[in-house]
Amino acid sequence: MDFVCSVCNKKLPRDILVIVSHTEEHIVDEIKKKHPKWATDDGICEKCHLYYKEQMGKKI
Ligand SMILES: [Zn+2]
Repeated sequence: MDFVCSVCNKKLPRDILVIVSHTEEHIVDEIKKKHPKWATDDGICEKCHLYYKEQMGKKI
């Protein structure tokens, strides 16, 4: 079963779906700023997760 990553709009296999944990609230906030319709429970793909993690890392 595939899922569509709401962040990059790509259809991807479910096994690379990442549910962003609540301890990563700064990442959640950043994604929601750019994708207001995205909900935490939707999850994102591994690539987007890494991307946002990196973005956050640069700011700290
Ligand atoms: Zn993605």
